[in-house]
Amino acid sequence: MKVLKFGGSSVASSENIHKVISIVKESSYKNKVAVVVSALGGVTDLLLEAGSLACESNNVYINKFKEIESRHINVIRELIPVSNQSSVLGEVKKVLNKLENTLEGVFLINELSNKTSDKIVSFGELLSSFIIAKAMKYNGLDSTLKNSQELIVTNETFSNASVKFSKTNAAIEKYFNQNKHTIVVLPGFVAKTEKGEVATLGRGGSDYTAAIIAAALNASILEIWTDVSGMYTSNPKFVKQAFPIKNISYQEAMELSHFGAKVLYPPTIQPVLEKEIPICIKNTFDAKADGTLITKVSSNTNPIKGISHIENMTLITLEGSGMIGIPGFSKRLFESLAHHQINVALITQASSEHSICIAISNQDAEKAKKAIDTTFSYEIEQRKVEPLTVEKDNAIIALVGDNMKSHQGISGKMFSTLGKNNVNIRAIAQGASEKNISAVIAHKDIKKALNTLHSEFFENQTKQLNLFIVGVGNVGGKLLAQIKQQQQYLLDNLKLQVRVIALTNSKKMLFNEDGIELENWKILLDKGEPLDMDLFHEKVTKLNYRNSIFVDNTANEKVSSLYASYLKESVAVVTCNKIACSSNYTNYLNLKRLSREYNAPFLFETNVGAGLPIIDTLKNLVASGDKVTKIQAVLSGSLNFVFNNFNKKNSFYEIVKEAGIQGYTEPDPRIDLSGIDVMRKILILARESGTKLELSDIENNSFLPEISLKSASVDDFLATLKTEANHFNKIQQNAANNKCRLKYVAEFDDGKAKVGLQEISSNHPFYNLDGSDNIVLFFTERYSQQPLIIKGAGAGADVTASGLFADIIRIGNN
Ligand code: ADP
Ligand code: ASP
Ligand code: MG
Repeated sequence: MKVLKFGGSSVASSENIHKVISIVKESSYKNKVAVVVSALGGVTDLLLEAGSLACESNNVYINKFKEIESRHINVIRELIPVSNQSSVLGEVKKVLNKLENTLEGVFLINELSNKTSDKIVSFGELLSSFIIAKAMKYNGLDSTLKNSQELIVTNETFSNASVKFSKTNAAIEKYFNQNKHTIVVLPGFVAKTEKGEVATLGRGGSDYTAAIIAAALNASILEIWTDVSGMYTSNPKFVKQAFPIKNISYQEAMELSHFGAKVLYPPTIQPVLEKEIPICIKNTFDAKADGTLITKVSSNTNPIKGISHIENMTLITLEGSGMIGIPGFSKRLFESLAHHQINVALITQASSEHSICIAISNQDAEKAKKAIDTTFSYEIEQRKVEPLTVEKDNAIIALVGDNMKSHQGISGKMFSTLGKNNVNIRAIAQGASEKNISAVIAHKDIKKALNTLHSEFFENQTKQLNLFIVGVGNVGGKLLAQIKQQQQYLLDNLKLQVRVIALTNSKKMLFNEDGIELENWKILLDKGEPLDMDLFHEKVTKLNYRNSIFVDNTANEKVSSLYASYLKESVAVVTCNKIACSSNYTNYLNLKRLSREYNAPFLFETNVGAGLPIIDTLKNLVASGDKVTKIQAVLSGSLNFVFNNFNKKNSFYEIVKEAGIQGYTEPDPRIDLSGIDVMRKILILARESGTKLELSDIENNSFLPEISLKSASVDDFLATLKTEANHFNKIQQNAANNKCRLKYVAEFDDGKAKVGLQEISSNHPFYNLDGSDNIVLFFTERYSQQPLIIKGAGAGADVTASGLFADIIRIGNN
């Protein structure tokens, strides 16, 4: 004998019921089968809603009833052959009339006890089992219907009744002993008390019905058919990478289901465990998939089998100096909770006995507070105990596995992984059996915590990086192209999965929680929603992904003012925008502090020398105890390009224009030519060397004529370059006469910084600097004679993008 149970989604529509019928047919070739069914998916909820609306005298209950009615009638029309439809419809309408009358009664008397609610909700399974049994019969199967209310006897705890096993088992055996049919269809979830009143076994209770029948009949297997391919390593709705566990022990399955793995109703295991009947969880929509086999001992040696979680938890803390060393406090606490039927999911007490912390369901919070405050009213008045602290909206997250006890370091890894990802842990519990390590965390962190732990314990250590990219111009566009090209390589070689979750240009923004398709980002972004940076921030925060990185590819001051708000949410910031790091010193320091405090990297390698590893090298020098004494550098790729190409045969104006076209200058060339850009860069290097400096402290010996410096717009400025051609030609001529080349040099020496155009003679390392290259000379205590030199392409969209990309990967490798 086999027992098969089909859940709500498996019987939600006629199409699904066809699948159920073929699974049962296949099973019944060799075995007798008992088929336990749930209500059509969603119907139990509808019945409960109809009941409470009727109880509030709200007419809308009628709509809910109509919805329930039409769901069933539609299924009959689609499932039962036309010639048999009218008799089935007639029977079902009779049952629906009873339901309607019961709801009407509740509407009239404005009262809904658990007992009446059970009566209402039982219609779901009674209707579904009747229809499915008929459908099987008309499909040629040798099937019959048996109402499990005539078999399962319970106490009177309506809505969550306890089974009286001796009577129940006897009734089941008796019925099946005389049954001649191959297939018996039974409604799950429903039962009756000894007095014959309708009772139910608790939400999700059809699994339990099936287990009770399997145990009573000593079935060879209990198959739970549902909408997923087994018990997963974590809830697949939260963790995309979760996968079905092949084999798991009863104890482990019980822990996982108690801690929220809804796929199996927790009491289900108890009846079959004693008889060692295996449970197989299978997918109705993918019948060939292996599913999960639950047995006494699991062949799977992984110490951790799964990670589950329970939402809507409240943390209650009872504390006070009067509790220390005095026996009986916990007894009174738990007695008062038990007295009010409040279930406790987790308990922790430090050895100081100064406080006891427990987790209960949110819906019991008010009741618990009242009960405990009353129990300890005397101690509270005497100030021996503080009034109870109640914190709602928490969740419990649990690692489960029989073999954790023989492995060290699992809890350490669990807590450090959560800590690194800024998931705050409020309470921890680990029983001596070590089958379960649980932690209480905030509701908002559930998804992040599950995914981080899953990747730590189950995935091939693949790390996901989630990018929120602002600006898709020259640099941003190249960055996207580079990411697209390298995605597979990074996954295969560095185990980094880089996903672009959001993109903006100056008008639109686009979000895709699963990662934007980079082939089509332009088209997709065009169709995005209007840009709203506040909403953008809200969305990033709400997604709360681990390893989130805000990437700023703009030169925009407003965007740079947002960094603090991201760092505070533990979102890393990677930027080529120099404004933040060259703003006032307090702001710069604050960003660095936030980065440390919230464990969120703040990287800006591309602020100086585009993709050249200048800042990283400087950081390493400082971190290893070296001291920078002097920096000499050519830091403007744009100015270098301009002065390398400006000669007798062309004009300064033409060269500046060309530099703009080739992407070597900032969108506003005044920022480069006035020296501001270089000032910002040397300021950042000075600060990174440990010096407190402001932009206004830097000496700027501009080579521009007064009129150019004063021009109000980019066009005006470019025009002055034409009219002042003589001025520029003279500078060029003088240098040529002196056999020198012109370089725009930044210097930092003895705590002071200056920038300006210099004539460089042929024996200087700056002389042969080509194209848009940059060069930096670090003179330090260790590099005192010969400076440490970094030289290479220091401007251009491609190298800047690759510098940003390197910062992103740096975060991934950390
Ligand atoms: P049924 O209606 O078939 O009884 P349920 O909705 O009660 O189905 O249970 C199946 C659901 O359980 C899945 O769709 C999934 O969302 C949820 N679930 C939660 N945790 C897990 C887990 N660890 N493995 C598989 N499913 C899980
Ligand atoms: N129909 C009931 C519920 O939705 C029982 C079950 O499906 O297991 O809770
Ligand atoms: Mg279920």
